[in-house]
Amino acid sequence: MDAGTLIVGASQAGLQLAVSLRDAGETGPVTLIGEEPHAPYQRPPLSKAYLQGSTELEQLWLRAPEFLAGNDISLVTAERIETIELDDGGPSGSARTRSGNVLNFDRLALTVGARPRRLDAPGAELAGVTYLRTADDATVLRELQSDAESVVVIGGGFIGLEAAAVARAQGKSVTVVEAVDRLIGRAVAPVVSDFYRAAHTRRGVDVRLGTRVTRLAGEGDRVQAVELSDGTWVSADLVIVGIGVVPRSKLARQLHLDYDNGIVVDRFARTSNPSVVAAGDCTVQPNPLTGHGLVRLESVQNAISQAKTAAATLAGRSEPNDAVPWFWSDQYNLKLQIAGLSTGHDHYVVRGDIGGESFSVLYYRDGALLAVDAVNAPGDYMAVRKALTQGSTISAEAAADSAVALKRLIVPQPVGA
Ligand SMILES: Cc1cc2nc3c(=O)[nH]c(=O)nc-3n(C[C@H](O)[C@H](O)[C@H](O)COP(=O)(O)OP(=O)(O)OC[C@H]3O[C@@H](n4cnc5c(N)ncnc54)[C@H](O)[C@@H]3O)c2cc1C
Repeated sequence: MDAGTLIVGASQAGLQLAVSLRDAGETGPVTLIGEEPHAPYQRPPLSKAYLQGSTELEQLWLRAPEFLAGNDISLVTAERIETIELDDGGPSGSARTRSGNVLNFDRLALTVGARPRRLDAPGAELAGVTYLRTADDATVLRELQSDAESVVVIGGGFIGLEAAAVARAQGKSVTVVEAVDRLIGRAVAPVVSDFYRAAHTRRGVDVRLGTRVTRLAGEGDRVQAVELSDGTWVSADLVIVGIGVVPRSKLARQLHLDYDNGIVVDRFARTSNPSVVAAGDCTVQPNPLTGHGLVRLESVQNAISQAKTAAATLAGRSEPNDAVPWFWSDQYNLKLQIAGLSTGHDHYVVRGDIGGESFSVLYYRDGALLAVDAVNAPGDYMAVRKALTQGSTISAEAAADSAVALKRLIVPQPVGA
């Protein structure tokens, strides 16, 4: 009997993989198994509308359970795969769940995502110290936040800053503590980091850069204050830790798959065992734009695009994942949109009005357009995304004139570029 495809991890990537397999004409059993007790849902609103209390979990479902049933996709929730074995190297094998069930499969996909990096400081286990990855995390946080007066956010990355913006909009006293000397330093240029520091400060957030939390203190088991590396104490009846994620590796290690801060996959979402595919936050892959170097992309766009590639690979088609990466972040009334990857840039051009909170930054290397960060500048974002998608460019000199719409400046790449 056909044991079908087992997809481990029922979130953005796993759900897309299941749907794309059916779209590709797969008729065998497809099982999507996830340890969370919910149908697959969107995570981005957890640090935005859901945290604000302006949406509920059912509105975040990626697909209604009836859709999955109608497409003969078996969804198993609240069940964790503990061990996996392949028969003679694969592709078939069997997986054992936490509750002791054994699932046989003909083909295996790993979409196990990542978990939040834990804070390593005395007092980190106190009540009121929270993380934000799952819907259950967000539900706890939004309840605690409604009663909190002073919130300390540890980590000035996207999730920390979005949570800080929500807390500030709710009138809380908010402090953001970031260990390095700028905000969102892994993703944007200093000019954008400086903008976000100023934007949060203007709205009343106390931003502490180059500062670490050295310990947390409480009364009973509840957090009350955090001590910073400069010796100062900040009151906190709620602490939100947003210091990055760690891709899940346990199953990949059982299967002896290459792992390098993520499951290593190629452009076709194949792991080092080509009969096993992986997609989403759990992977590292060749840069989709240049093909060089391994990158880990934690984004909805990547989870979807790589999952489609993985489904195509399982269906016997070769469709490389070379889509232009894109990402967004909402903080207050500021919409940041990113297209491309700015890593390795040697030059950038700023357009628009930073003080007026509407501007964009275009990144270049050796004169080649790499990426854009656009704040309340959707036209610039769309133009760069279009140029990168069609293999065109926009010259840095021309882009520097903010009076000219970027979409008018898209030109073919010079020959040999
Ligand atoms: C608060 C928040 C805000 C975000 N905002 C944005 C945004 O604005 N824009 C953007 O592009 N991206 C955003 N992201 C990132 C985006 O949500 C992720 O990139 C995306 O969810 C990755 O999907 P995934 O399926 O690869 O992994 P995940 O979403 O991590 O899902 C993996 C799933 O696998 C399950 N699992 C793991 N191991 C097992 C096992 N052994 N057995 C069974 N199940 C298992 C996990 O429980 C989890 O449900 C945000 C993320 C968070 C947390």
